[in-house]
Amino acid sequence: MWAFRSVLLLRSAAGRAMSQGPARRQRPPKDPLRHLRTREKRGAAWEPGGPNTVYLQVVAAGGRDVGAALYVFSEYNRYLFNCGEGVQRLMQEHKLKVARLDNIFLTRMHWCNVGGLCGMILTLKETGLPKCVLSGPPQLEKYLEAIKTFSGPLKGIDLAVRPHSAPEYKDETMTVFQIPIYSVGQRKRGRDPSLVVAFVCKLHVKKGNFLVLKAKELGLPVGTAAIAPIIAAVKDGRSVTYEGREILPEEICTPPDPGLAFVVVECPDEGFIRPVCENATFKRYQGNAEAPVALVVHMAPERVLADSRYQQWMERFGPAAQHLVLNESCSSVHNLRSHKIQTQLSLIHPDIFPPLATPCRQEEVPASRVPTVRGECLLKYQLRPRREWQRDAVINCNPEEFIAEALELPNFQESVQEYRKAVRDGPTPAENGSQYPEIVFLGTGSAIPMKIRNVSATLVNISPDRSLLLDCGEGTFGQLCRHYGDEVDRVLGTLAAVFVSHLHADHHTGLLNILLQRERALASLGRPCHPLPVVAPTQLRAWLQQYHHQCQRILHHVSLIPAKCLQKGAEVPSPEVERLIGSLLEACDLGEFQTCLVRHCKHAFGCALVHTSGWKLVYSGDTMPCEALVQMGKDATLLIHEATLEDGLEEEAVEKTHSTTSQAIGVGVRMNAGFTMLTHFSQRYAKVPLFSPGFNDKVGIAFDHMKVCFGDSATVSKLIAPLQALFAGDIEEMEGRREKRGVRLARAALLSGEVGGPEDGAPQQKRALPEQPQSPQSKKVRAQ
Ligand SMILES: [Zn+2]
Ligand SMILES: [Zn+2]
Repeated sequence: MWAFRSVLLLRSAAGRAMSQGPARRQRPPKDPLRHLRTREKRGAAWEPGGPNTVYLQVVAAGGRDVGAALYVFSEYNRYLFNCGEGVQRLMQEHKLKVARLDNIFLTRMHWCNVGGLCGMILTLKETGLPKCVLSGPPQLEKYLEAIKTFSGPLKGIDLAVRPHSAPEYKDETMTVFQIPIYSVGQRKRGRDPSLVVAFVCKLHVKKGNFLVLKAKELGLPVGTAAIAPIIAAVKDGRSVTYEGREILPEEICTPPDPGLAFVVVECPDEGFIRPVCENATFKRYQGNAEAPVALVVHMAPERVLADSRYQQWMERFGPAAQHLVLNESCSSVHNLRSHKIQTQLSLIHPDIFPPLATPCRQEEVPASRVPTVRGECLLKYQLRPRREWQRDAVINCNPEEFIAEALELPNFQESVQEYRKAVRDGPTPAENGSQYPEIVFLGTGSAIPMKIRNVSATLVNISPDRSLLLDCGEGTFGQLCRHYGDEVDRVLGTLAAVFVSHLHADHHTGLLNILLQRERALASLGRPCHPLPVVAPTQLRAWLQQYHHQCQRILHHVSLIPAKCLQKGAEVPSPEVERLIGSLLEACDLGEFQTCLVRHCKHAFGCALVHTSGWKLVYSGDTMPCEALVQMGKDATLLIHEATLEDGLEEEAVEKTHSTTSQAIGVGVRMNAGFTMLTHFSQRYAKVPLFSPGFNDKVGIAFDHMKVCFGDSATVSKLIAPLQALFAGDIEEMEGRREKRGVRLARAALLSGEVGGPEDGAPQQKRALPEQPQSPQSKKVRAQ
């Protein structure tokens, strides 16, 4: 038990951290759209002299759990290349501000590149960003239409699509050329997966700097109005005549910085190799180049990179070009904070909080003739001011450091020891000794994927070879990868069905990736692929159909079971659905799979699963306290209930149609549930929600990657003490906020002469229900 030994070894260090207060200084809120106002002030006539600073940074290095995405920075603009699931979460964790994105470039209409785009767009809309331009494959327009089937009209943000056939795009930083590349010979059926779009980006020439001292030495009228035209001329490379003397630009000006280029190209399979290698536009940037190519970013599997034709093509960019590879052989940890918290939690209980899998480097094909650099999360290549690789931001995941940090926290080690003693002395878990069902929480946060908590998903392993997913928010597959590592294909192979509670983005936008990755998993397991039953509101069908018909084939992976058909007493509309339900029950050994409407948005469901061995599992989805759920869930063995908000925020909970902690616990009591696990916490409680007095030995808090079975209830409910020690700083900060809010509320009530005045000092707004469109000006709350 290495962890426990280190607890003892590092005990003496515990006192040191005592004096450091956990309170952080609060900064005044920044204006997220400051850059747009600056741009407006400059006016249309403003002509930039080319950017001083430009770098490319790897957001996602191409691994199976994160995909490939690239962020490009200049002092004027920010760009994103590809936006798969989880990219927004990584940008949040690594402080790459989405509010500053002007342009998103997509290399191909495939879920691996666009899966995170729906969530990203919702976030950009909330930020108030007036416009964002999407460039790439022709299906993008249709993709946006498809998103609207669940997001509602995307009012308030101007989403322009610049198809690949549009002329080049130019802004303050660079000119971007889109190059369509059509696959040969491998034309698959469907929505033209044979097209990828590559991007050649040419930085503007940066004009030289005017050398003031030199100019003074030469007697030029520095400091007077007469100098302006002289500066303008020499910066443009023209010589000037001053008092009869010709002055060459190089005498008083540094040389201009040439217009370097970089290339982003996806080559997903061998069918694209020839079209890439023979492409005429690329040829213009090879050999005697129009602009020297400083960097080529390859989103391509190893087998493409190893192809001799592709290698020759790479060589033709010349010895000065650098090559960056983003693909599945990358072994970089991306979700550092997730690893950190799990490492620390596993000190408390390594079975309930099993350490996450770290990606291991896959076989690389050796003998590349062109030196290439493998992508790592946050690796940078700087184009200006100096061309160089920069590794200072690259993530270093050091579990020893996380452990040491936790062990230095006051009272942590003591509370862990007390906890272990209490668990040892407590009732022996699970008399029947069954490990199943095993519940793995994959996403326990609401609304937006954040660094500590991803959005809703819970895996129920009914037996070693049968499982169900309850909700499936963006990034669920990535969470599965990080939880199971190399086992992920086996786990996908056990998946018998997915339950989608309602159509808010935080509950279903991870579904398509699960379907696509399951197809791959079954193939690798040598098993036939059959459609996966998905129990969901019928409205899901519209999204799946639109995406299928306009973007990428997907429907053959799904058999939709309308959630309403599983309501008590509901009529099953067709023998086909009847058959699907029957085989689902049989596959999972379930006696019953029931749903009920809950109090959230329209068409929101909870569900209850009754196993033939007698256990009953109830899941609330998102809801206010709901009598129908109480009735359906009577005597549940386990209730998994949302607890979005802390006690005291009942009014906000009603506005957002969610539950508070005590309300969720109350539902469990009324249901006579054996145990209640709380989940779907507002992201304002980043690490841990505020504990309420209602906590007892029948209540537990879910964390991402937490793994429990019914026998763990005593072990789970006792976790609160060590959790309080681990998160003391955060809890203190949150309680401080709560107190301040209380004072503000009281003051506002005094001023307005009524009780229950506006919160946070802001004028009270009647917020629209989540599924209704909202006016762009209102301080919006994302439907969650
Ligand atoms: Zn919701
Ligand atoms: Zn939600």
